[in-house]
Amino acid sequence: MALASTADPRSVTILGSTGSVGTSTIDLIRRNPGAYVVEALTANSDWEQLARQAIELNARSVAIGDPHAYEPLKLALAGTNIGVAAGPESLIEAASHQSDWVMAAIVGAAGLAPTLAAIRRGAIVALANKEVLVCAGDLVMEEVARSGATLLPVDSEHNAIFQVFDFERMDTIEKIILTASGGPFRTLDRAAMALKTPAQAVAHPNWKMGAKISVDSATMMNKGLELIEAKHLFRMPQEKIDIVVHPQSVIHSLVAYIDGSVLAQLGSPDMRTPIAYTLAWPARMQSPSPRLDLAQIANLSFEAPDPVRFPALRLVREAVSAGGSAPTVLNAANEIAVHAFLNETIGFLDIAEIVEQTLAAIPVGPIDTLGDVHNFDKHARETAAKLAESYARSAA
Ligand code: NAD
Ligand code: MG
Repeated sequence: MALASTADPRSVTILGSTGSVGTSTIDLIRRNPGAYVVEALTANSDWEQLARQAIELNARSVAIGDPHAYEPLKLALAGTNIGVAAGPESLIEAASHQSDWVMAAIVGAAGLAPTLAAIRRGAIVALANKEVLVCAGDLVMEEVARSGATLLPVDSEHNAIFQVFDFERMDTIEKIILTASGGPFRTLDRAAMALKTPAQAVAHPNWKMGAKISVDSATMMNKGLELIEAKHLFRMPQEKIDIVVHPQSVIHSLVAYIDGSVLAQLGSPDMRTPIAYTLAWPARMQSPSPRLDLAQIANLSFEAPDPVRFPALRLVREAVSAGGSAPTVLNAANEIAVHAFLNETIGFLDIAEIVEQTLAAIPVGPIDTLGDVHNFDKHARETAAKLAESYARSAA
């Protein structure tokens, strides 16, 4: 059953509506006419798609990060009642407007301020934007506690854990186990990885996702970011978070209890299942995700992750142990390095090297305020950008 017949429509805001998670969210909303009213939609620069979405869904307002997109967006929405705003501040404002439910699906630390604005007003926040927790996890979780906001994980692994995690009896949980597909380069040695292009890195075997997270999956930094995400969402120390490679992406993650029971959530690799879970929460709704046919899948396999071929996993564990600013720095350096790789100025293996060198160059300090996050994030971006330039020069 969709929510439609049983409840008032839920008002929703989608931050990052033009992306992979954003469009999957809209797909579910479109299939449930009458169940949702769209308050605000936001994008970075794709004003054409944003305008189309706003008209189709009859959104009350749109906000676009790139100020240059304001004029064409305004023109595209002329004759409608849809409010239009542009610039980074407009994203925060869009998130601040009253709505019951907010999808946080911007990519990167750019999503921190808008996501926090939604949290601060106590909304139900469906969190896809994992970098928010990686760069400022303690501060974000403090704001959740203070505001009484509901944080629902969208990331498939964390959504899986959320569904089988006993928050009332956390002392009965021995550990959580994140599954990882291993990405498109799972079986390659480092020499073969070194030659890989952005197109090959984003061609994920199981999931269709945005470019940044696809590269993160190829380096396995994605699983590292997810370890930090899980640490905050489930208040687990990193020693109680295991990672296992499971190439079929059918078991989305597991929770191990002290009596030896292990609970898991399974499903086909389609983000519309975890998104639907959050969109209908605490009810459930229909999702068009392909149904799991276990007999057809026949075999599920597992292997230990390899921190030598995938150094990102080691870097994340080290950054978590170092604490303070280290995860913020790791995240920012990774964003810069992935961007440089996508622009073909550095090689695939340079990504983790740049992250490692940025971490080594910036002494760890405390993160007590958002100002601290901002300062370390900025410093790390500058340091990583310089490193990326020197890698680009030495390759040329
Ligand atoms: P995407 O690149 O497809 O979309 C990103 C969205 O954010 C777009 O709407 C874009 O316009 C907007 N955006 C990008 N930069 C921005 C900026 N500087 N300011 C404002 N808006 C900006 O990314 P995606 O794959 O949808 O991923 C979104 C987030 O969800 C990421 O944090 C990712 O790690 C996470 N996530 C994605 C998936 C997936 O299947 N795609 C799964 C789990 C988690
Ligand atoms: Mg995930």
